[in-house]
Amino acid sequence: MHVAVFDIDGVVADTGKAIIEIIRKDLGKSWITLEDITEYDINKLSWLSEEEIKYLVICFNQPEFYLSLSPLDGAQKAIQTLKDADWKIIFLTARPKFLYNVTYYWLKSHNFPFDELIICQALEKPKYCERLNQSVLIEDRPDIINEIARRHPHIRLFVFNQPWNKNVKVGIRVNNFKEFLAKIL
Ligand SMILES: [Mg+2]
Repeated sequence: MHVAVFDIDGVVADTGKAIIEIIRKDLGKSWITLEDITEYDINKLSWLSEEEIKYLVICFNQPEFYLSLSPLDGAQKAIQTLKDADWKIIFLTARPKFLYNVTYYWLKSHNFPFDELIICQALEKPKYCERLNQSVLIEDRPDIINEIARRHPHIRLFVFNQPWNKNVKVGIRVNNFKEFLAKIL
């Protein structure tokens, strides 16, 4: 059976857009756009002060933040297409464990079909990929992408194009779910 493993933030959930809204509204930096988030780790963004980073980290620990996210365009439809073609769908996220129920609810309420939702530490993600033969993984986080490519070259690894992963040289880069489906099926 084919298995497709999806990361959530920055892949099926438009987390970048939500972060930009907070930076503009709450931090007053109205000139900032998604393209300014050139690092996955916000601590490395030189245009944020220490105080602003602390504020964002607090936001990232609120269940409301995750409930308010919009799905990325075409995500549900693409995943439904795979489901209809008998693929097993797994969501694999490194969100904090206490967000399991919120994440489950968000996926259901936005009509994502799935067989499993797994929360693990970011660095455990490659380990979960070990048991998945013939699988496809789609991810946006640079260090995880590089590690999975190194440890599991048999996995078809897709990089969901985001401003914070422009330097990633491995994987199959896709800009949206239409491209993803075209390359996977
Ligand atoms: Mg992600």
